[in-house]
Amino acid sequence: MIEALIKATKTYLPNFDEKRVKDAFEFAKDAHDGQFRKNGDPYISHPLATAEILTSLHVDEDILVAALLHDVPEDTTRTLAEIESKFGKQVAFLVEGITKLSKVHYRNDMEERQIESLKKMFIHSAKDPRIILIKLADRLHNMRTMNAIAKPEKRERIARETLEILVPIANLLGTWELKNQLEDYCFKILHPEEFDEISTLVHRTEIKKKNILKKTLNKVTSLLETSGVKVSATEGRQKNVYSIYKKMLRTGKSFHEIHDLIGVRIIVEDVGSCYQTLGILHQAFTPKIGRLKDYIAIPKNNGYQSIHTTVFGLAGVITEFQVRTLDMHLENEYGIAAHYFYSEKKQKIMQKKFAKKYAWVQEILEMQRDIPNNKKFLEHLKLDVFEDRIFVFTPKGDVIDLPAGSNCIDFAYQIHSDVGMLATEANINGKRSLLSTKLKSGDTVLIVTSEESDGPQIDWLDGVHTTLARTRIKEFLREKDRTCVISQAEEILNQKLKVLGLGDIFELKKEQKIHALEKMKIDAWEDLLYDVGSGTTQSSEIIPLLFDQNEVLGAAKKPFYEDAYSNRNHQPLRGNPGIVHTVSIIVEGNNRIGFLRDLCNEIANLGVNVLGVESVPQGKCDSARIEFLVEIVDFKQYEVVVEAIRHVEGVFNVLKLQTPPLNPEEIIGFHKKL
Ligand code: MN
Repeated sequence: MIEALIKATKTYLPNFDEKRVKDAFEFAKDAHDGQFRKNGDPYISHPLATAEILTSLHVDEDILVAALLHDVPEDTTRTLAEIESKFGKQVAFLVEGITKLSKVHYRNDMEERQIESLKKMFIHSAKDPRIILIKLADRLHNMRTMNAIAKPEKRERIARETLEILVPIANLLGTWELKNQLEDYCFKILHPEEFDEISTLVHRTEIKKKNILKKTLNKVTSLLETSGVKVSATEGRQKNVYSIYKKMLRTGKSFHEIHDLIGVRIIVEDVGSCYQTLGILHQAFTPKIGRLKDYIAIPKNNGYQSIHTTVFGLAGVITEFQVRTLDMHLENEYGIAAHYFYSEKKQKIMQKKFAKKYAWVQEILEMQRDIPNNKKFLEHLKLDVFEDRIFVFTPKGDVIDLPAGSNCIDFAYQIHSDVGMLATEANINGKRSLLSTKLKSGDTVLIVTSEESDGPQIDWLDGVHTTLARTRIKEFLREKDRTCVISQAEEILNQKLKVLGLGDIFELKKEQKIHALEKMKIDAWEDLLYDVGSGTTQSSEIIPLLFDQNEVLGAAKKPFYEDAYSNRNHQPLRGNPGIVHTVSIIVEGNNRIGFLRDLCNEIANLGVNVLGVESVPQGKCDSARIEFLVEIVDFKQYEVVVEAIRHVEGVFNVLKLQTPPLNPEEIIGFHKKL
């Protein structure tokens, strides 16, 4: 059973410890004894296949051993400690990493944000790219044996998870071969008809092209040999089915337009040979204009190096050549795995490079491929390299990623603003906790909310770590301030209206408000109240806009006795006003000597003519109720008069008589009452 693995490993790791790998196999086989895969195979077939897949990436011995053992701690009675004592720290570390990754769960209805978090968590919890390589191989084998899973929904969920989480990561690590295979398996499950159609076409054209490809490879090899160029390898290239499908969708081109060309890759010893090869190719075949790309002289942003040229090849078939050195090839093809390739010396250098925390992410970023839909992911990832993150679960199992140091409030806001807004306490791993409790990776957090919550408190700002929470809390506090200001303004205005006998603020009609808003050029009633409350606008400016002057003060007419306005001894502040409203004002206050005099003085000082006064003692004569009949020019003067009266010592209430007498006869009647 294990012979194939040993053989494959020998091809690139001639000096590996064969016994150690065999021991790992036996250990795993023993541990999984009696367990079977869904397809009926003994369970050991799965870790073995996982290891075999990894040999195609030329991974090191520890990775192979870890791959063989990867499901042992999770699914058997054998422990990680046993693995460590038998196979060493490195292997135990890798196996533990895989076990942790199995706790990252994907659901079908996940939002994009959560998928992003999941990808990040995946990479974060992997800690080491080797763990991800094992996981990718593990998944590839699971995808290969997917038919054994009876439920189509489960197959689809796994395919979607693979496509959304693992494929981008495989892409990121530059492990193209794994990525392509994973993609095609997913494609087959998720779009079986399209998959069949395209793969049939691929298969058919492949047969046609095979002959030409073979001839081309032969011709190129002999051309290069006669010119003295040492060729490491030549190979025909194939696009995977899914990428053909994507390209068809993207470009709108037909399958044949995309696929009817052949691709040949030539790997040579050094950079000089690359250019020499290019010259030879261009002498032998007519190049297509504008298709020569020298990514050796000018590598792609992601570090990709190769020379590309497209020519009219044998039998007129368009042929694309890629020429590169072996080093470039390894980097380009195997990505992160290239660092575990071939010589142990090289491995050591690379491992040193990786020893630094997160250095590998840096490596990945340097090697990042220019795949547009991965751009966002990479941007996010970049941030995470510089800031430690924690990954916390919702009770449903969604992953929320937060900067390290975040507390429950950060978490609450990350879920939803309303959750933050109404949060009252938290429950961390089943234990009641304060909202200010700092979270750790792996915590499961439930935020208790209540409609009765007072909302965010100012001291929340001390503990929060995310910009989101900070912004929302500040917004709320500002809004809360605003609410206070508005309700204060409402009170002020209401009092004023009552004093002026204009009723209650809540009885204002819509038309009244709209009229005032239009005059003030303000959009919303609350904004207007805010202006009043914050002192930008005086309530005295607003009130006249809410009411019709004649309606409130009665119709305007000539003063009852015009000569009253020419009395110079009473320092009239205005001359004859022309027209006036006759208004009845009732004052209630503490009875004292000079009370009536003081009131009359105030009114007279404002140049307001008093037509009549009626004073009636109240209760035990300790208070008085005095009614003035005055001539008022306009709303503004009316308010000034009321204000002035209010400030006379002893006054505790000023009221407007709702229906003041309007004609002289009634006024005379008023006098008669006196
Ligand atoms: Mn597995």
